[in-house]
Amino acid sequence: MAERKRQVVIRAARRPMLCLRMDLDTLFTPYFNKWLERFGDGELHYVPRLLDQARELEVPLHFFAQGMGVIQYPDLLRRILAAGFAVDSHLHTHRITLIDDYGLIFEEVLTAEHLLKSIGAAPAGIGATGMYPEGIDGREDVQRLLMARGYHWVSSRFNLKRTLHEMQPYRYPNGLLELPCAGWSDFTWFYASDQPTLPEYDVGGSPTLEQFIRHVQDLTTLAARDGLILAVCLHPGLLAAHDPELHCVPRVIQHARRLGVEPADLRTIAAACPPARGG
Ligand SMILES: [Zn+2]
Repeated sequence: MAERKRQVVIRAARRPMLCLRMDLDTLFTPYFNKWLERFGDGELHYVPRLLDQARELEVPLHFFAQGMGVIQYPDLLRRILAAGFAVDSHLHTHRITLIDDYGLIFEEVLTAEHLLKSIGAAPAGIGATGMYPEGIDGREDVQRLLMARGYHWVSSRFNLKRTLHEMQPYRYPNGLLELPCAGWSDFTWFYASDQPTLPEYDVGGSPTLEQFIRHVQDLTTLAARDGLILAVCLHPGLLAAHDPELHCVPRVIQHARRLGVEPADLRTIAAACPPARGG
């Protein structure tokens, strides 16, 4: 409880903003085969199309890559960087989360950092693997590590039971900024069938892309109305299977722009958050 009270919740955004967070996951090593079975191997072909579309729409998609990604598909990551999109850390192997053993987290954070820097990326924040209902609350060791490595923000909180109002940026006690991902991710939407379905979208069948787009648009409408930050967690490897014609990004972005919600990456959103008290 004391922990919760000391957090500084940043409720009043200067302006409503929307981030489409793109986690590059498909090829992550230990689950390579399992993942390919589930999602297919479309990610490598999908990302270049996504880049072309994003450039055309002038949308600052925010990519998160693993250290293993630098080993497995360096040219793709270089292409993303060359196109001017933010690429930040999604740790190294995807086997470890930010609520695991400290020693393993330490190794993952540093290895990913070295590899990403080796291709010219300058990781400024961490997009957590797994995502956690209460972010990294209570993990002062991890909060300290990230600050000590020069990361000023982390995006690790994901909680379907909380409203967008409850999923606004906040600071951990040491000043590290948390940028939660609100609403459903594409992963939970299409794959986590054990999650309770939102009644308004329950049509008695499998969740569809159309319903997912409407879900993100509805959250965007709320962000516009109440001046909120909305970050949505997406996976190009998964969109390749469920949105092969690339409908999601343009429809969500056009909706956002109509309502005056600015598309932004998490770096821009972090910069727009008030600074930590006392520096
Ligand atoms: Zn991931």
